[in-house]
Amino acid sequence: MHDLIRIIDDAKYRAIAGNPLDHGTIVALLSIPEESELCDYLGAAAREAAAAICGNHAYLWGAVGVDATPCEMNCKYCSLGEEWGLISKKEQLEEGEIFRIVQNYERGNVRWIVLRTTQFYRLDKLSGLIQRIRRAVPGKYEIGINAGEMDEALAGQVAGAGAAFAYHSLRLGEGRDTLFRPADRVATLKAIGASPLDLVYLVEPVGREHSNEEIAAIMQSVLDCGANVSGAMARVPVPGTPLGHIPQISERRLAQIIAVSRLVCGRAIPDICVHPCNDLALAWGANVTVVECGSIPRDIGQHGQAWHGFDCRQADEAFRRNGYTVHQTKQ
Ligand code: SF4
Repeated sequence: MHDLIRIIDDAKYRAIAGNPLDHGTIVALLSIPEESELCDYLGAAAREAAAAICGNHAYLWGAVGVDATPCEMNCKYCSLGEEWGLISKKEQLEEGEIFRIVQNYERGNVRWIVLRTTQFYRLDKLSGLIQRIRRAVPGKYEIGINAGEMDEALAGQVAGAGAAFAYHSLRLGEGRDTLFRPADRVATLKAIGASPLDLVYLVEPVGREHSNEEIAAIMQSVLDCGANVSGAMARVPVPGTPLGHIPQISERRLAQIIAVSRLVCGRAIPDICVHPCNDLALAWGANVTVVECGSIPRDIGQHGQAWHGFDCRQADEAFRRNGYTVHQTKQ
């Protein structure tokens, strides 16, 4: 117990000073039982680090699920995998609907608006869409993509069209629960890192099936790839997908992973995102959370309104309750 308190204190000081944590320390922090008082101590340490590093400035991430296309990559947790038969036809949000969602996000103080697509959606189409959104919805928000693999030249083209960032990740269980070669995902992460785009890379989709060692390895990959924003997202079990029978991790476990992510990322990555949002995760160090509309890989069907009713106003209130103020531009 005393050893772990010393490890948590040391991790907090290292995070605030901008010094990295080693793999063994990350695993030790992730291994703290989620229901223990020690885990509360970890969360409080991470919240202190968040205040020192991000100054209690919070930001919103607004996702627009552009298309619902049965996807041949068949990730074992994704509702859009064609083999699971949960969606039968190709659907795409009307451009006017995309503009309406973006406008809502802009009015809701969202900083990062991401156009999310299935794996093989053409990046030149997305680039054109970005340009039209920018013309139709003026504002200070940053726009970006969450799409398939790309090399540095393609990432540069998307940036040239007005994108500020790309979301990408080496997912937990990549190559086991997905058909991807992990090396291809890492190549895209490196290409984005070498391009003018900022890289947003969360530890995801975290489930009960993942060991602390696996989670720690992805946290280190986030740092190695030079991500600008990180954090963690839980796997949401979708009935009918191969992993749909394994229950979601608890809010407390997700909050613990956020706390560890905050300490691991330190000053190198000041913005830590949690999805789905829960108050404890904000109280334990997350200063970014997600609102999403359109097609969602964690659910079935198109969502014209915010997923699970969690909209910009609710996100803003959650941050206020936990001592943050939400800003649309980098503070
Ligand atoms: S997570 Fe992405 S790549 Fe995997 S099945 Fe879903 S849309 Fe396709």
